[in-house]
Amino acid sequence: MNAIDAAIVAKGPDDAYEFEVCGSCLIALANDDYSSMETEEADAVATGLNRLHAEYGMVVPDGAEYGFCSNRCECCDGLPGDRFRIICTGAKS
Ligand SMILES: [Zn+2]
Repeated sequence: MNAIDAAIVAKGPDDAYEFEVCGSCLIALANDDYSSMETEEADAVATGLNRLHAEYGMVVPDGAEYGFCSNRCECCDGLPGDRFRIICTGAKS
């Protein structure tokens, strides 16, 4: 199951999709700040955010903390670590 399928499964009654993303993706989304990342990571984060935006419309950095998660980041496919919630509200049907 890839990240998109998992998100569809997690689709809530309020018609929003939730994704568990790493701190880098949260900061990039919230502040448009890639300065703390290596080029390779920044590329992965930007690609992931663009993909979510293209497929799910508006992406909002909710920021709720899930704590440590052993799954890869659902945005940039980053290694396991602390995860934060982002919400995608403009989902295509
Ligand atoms: Zn990430």
